[in-house]
Amino acid sequence: MTGMLDGKSALITGAGSGIGRAAALAFVREGAWVAAADRNLDAAKATVAAIEAMGGEAVAIACDVTDDAQVAAMVAAAVNAFGGLDCAFNNAGVAPYQLNSAGVLTADLEEASWLGLIDINLHGVWRCLRHEVVQMRKQGGGAVVNTASILGLIGSGGAAAYVASKHAVVGLTKAAAIDHAPENIRVNAVCPGYIETPMTEETVRRRGEALMARVPMARMGRPEEIAEAVVWMCSDRAGFVTGSCWQVDGG
Ligand code: NAD
Repeated sequence: MTGMLDGKSALITGAGSGIGRAAALAFVREGAWVAAADRNLDAAKATVAAIEAMGGEAVAIACDVTDDAQVAAMVAAAVNAFGGLDCAFNNAGVAPYQLNSAGVLTADLEEASWLGLIDINLHGVWRCLRHEVVQMRKQGGGAVVNTASILGLIGSGGAAAYVASKHAVVGLTKAAAIDHAPENIRVNAVCPGYIETPMTEETVRRRGEALMARVPMARMGRPEEIAEAVVWMCSDRAGFVTGSCWQVDGG
């Protein structure tokens, strides 16, 4: 049986946990080689171990997406490992509580929380994207998927920096898709709803059942359900899809 990503090399950030790890496993299942990057190298190595246990091929790379030199080195390491870069999933991100700003109203946000979150969730995606595109244009094409959120499409209280960062990822995706379409590079985004990952454990603890009242399907999604959409957008089956921001959110 042939996989949707047979013979393709892929780079995934935030691959040590949650959606990134699920995507890494799904990419391998569909025939790709995976460079699993995370600022937590042990977590990336655990993802690689899970891939190797499935008989797949992967390398772990330490990279903090707030450091441009580390991002450049990450892309170079992925290219070095697999001889090129066909797909990239720019997924590393943090939630407001990780910068001590969960539930903080817009006017009360500390500048350091605002800048810290934007530097990871928005600037991190941009740093990765530009180094990846430089490589992909040398090869004559490629596919990039960025992780936005449903909060890149609608507002939410007590999360201004996060909502702003994810709206900006949607805008960046649309702009980059136009810029690089003539170079045969597709750029799309996935917009997950509430997904069961370590990131949402804290939110679920704080908001409980109230969270599900906003979801027509009345459940959280699984990281594997986001990975399915990302695999498809990276595959040649999505050859005419660029600049799209795909909601995977239970309605
Ligand atoms: P997670 O916390 O399980 O995983 C995030 C991973 O990113 C971690 O392994 C972490 O080490 C890594 N990371 C964080 N900052 C980094 C940095 N500066 N450099 C490199 N790696 C870094 O979270 P998740 O739920 O899998 O989230 C993945 C992405 O999905 C994020 O961009 C998040 O905003 C987005 N998202 C998640 C949900 C959800 O409900 N879980 C919903 C919408 C969007």
